[in-house]
Amino acid sequence: MSDPTRETDVRLRAALDQVPAYVPGKPAAAREGVTSYKVSSNENPFPPLPSVLEVIRDAATQVNRYPDMAVTALTEALAERLGVPTEHIATGTGSVGVLGQLVQATCDPGDEVVYAWRSFEAYPIVTALAGARSVQVGLDDHARHRLDAMAAAITDRTKVVIVCTPNNPTGPMVTHTELERFLDQVPSRVLVVIDEAYVEFVTGEDAPRSLELYRDRPNVMVLRTFSKAYGLAGLRVGYAVAHPPVASALRKTATPFGVNSLGQAAAVASLEAFDELKERVDQLVAERTRVVEALRGQGWFIADTEANFVWFGLGERSGAFAAAAQEAGLTLRQYGDDGVRATIGEPGANDVLIRVAGDFLLDNPVT
Ligand SMILES: *Cc1c(COP(=O)(O)O)cnc(C)c1O
Repeated sequence: MSDPTRETDVRLRAALDQVPAYVPGKPAAAREGVTSYKVSSNENPFPPLPSVLEVIRDAATQVNRYPDMAVTALTEALAERLGVPTEHIATGTGSVGVLGQLVQATCDPGDEVVYAWRSFEAYPIVTALAGARSVQVGLDDHARHRLDAMAAAITDRTKVVIVCTPNNPTGPMVTHTELERFLDQVPSRVLVVIDEAYVEFVTGEDAPRSLELYRDRPNVMVLRTFSKAYGLAGLRVGYAVAHPPVASALRKTATPFGVNSLGQAAAVASLEAFDELKERVDQLVAERTRVVEALRGQGWFIADTEANFVWFGLGERSGAFAAAAQEAGLTLRQYGDDGVRATIGEPGANDVLIRVAGDFLLDNPVT
C-alpha cells in the first residue's frame, strides 16, 4: 500500500510523526463450532441494565437537539456522589478525552509527561499530539510502578505525571501509603493525574483514597470513567475531579458539546443504578479471583491484579500464546514481545482462558 502521508503539499505538524497509532482490541473472529469471545478491550461483558437502556431510548428521541454543553445533571450527580463541589468536576469524551484536554492545557512543545511503562497506550498518543515528550519509567519485576524512580524522573520541563492504578495492562495498584509518600516528593507545580479507570474493581488493602489525596493537594487530579465498571464504553463519558484552576482549564480545552446527550443521560442513570451495577462488578471480581487462582495453580506467575484483567508477562512467547487463545475462540490483547492481557469476561470465556493457559504451559513449560 502506498504511504498515505506522501504526495501532498499540505503542511502537517511534525509532531504527528511521533504519534503512535492506537491499536484497538480486535473483534472476536468467528469460527465454525467455536464460541468466540472478545476479551481484548477490558469491556464489561454484561449488556446495559434495562433501566439504563430505557433512559438511552428516551434520550434518543431528542438527538436533533444539542446536548447540554455544561453537562449540568451529570456534574451535579457526580459532585453529590463524591462529596465535592461541582466546580471540581470536568467531563470529557471518555477519560481518554479528558486526558487529551489535560495535556493540551498543560504542555507546550518539548514539555515532559512522566508515566510508568508498560501502562495505558493512550498516554504516549495524547502526549505526542501536544508536541510534548514522554518520559517512560519501567515497571518493577512485579509489574508495579516504581514511584521513587518516577519522582526522580521529574525535571524542570515536567508538567504532568500520570499514575495508573490499577495499572493497565499489568493489574497491580499502588497503595495509599506509597502514593502519599510519592506525592510528598513531587513539586507542587507538577500536576499528578491518578488514573483510576478500574477503581470499582479494587479490593486490596491500603487502596488509594484518591479523593482524600486530591482534597489536600491542588496539584492532584483524579481521572475516572463510565467505560469499564459502569459498562458504557460505547457512549464515551469520563471525568476528572480537580481543583478549580485545573478543572476550568479542562473545560476550556474540551470539544464543545463533546459529551453527547445519550452519554450524559446514561451516566446519570448508571449512578442511580450503582447498587445493581455493583453486583455485576462483584461477580467479575469473584471470577478474577477464580481465574488467578487457577492460573497460579497451573504454575503461572501472575502479577496481583486489582482490575478486570490479568497479565501474562510472556516475553517472546506472547505471540504464540495469543495465537493459541485465538484458535480456541478467545481474542486477547498482545503487547508485542512484552506480554498478553486477558479481560475477565463471562464465566464461559474465563473457562476457555484457563484451559488454553493450562495447555500452553504443558507445551511450553515456564523455566
Ligand atoms: C480504559 C481506560 C481508560 C478509559 O478510557 P475511556 O476513554 O474512558 O473509555 C482510561 N485509563 C485507562 C488506564 C484505561 O484502561
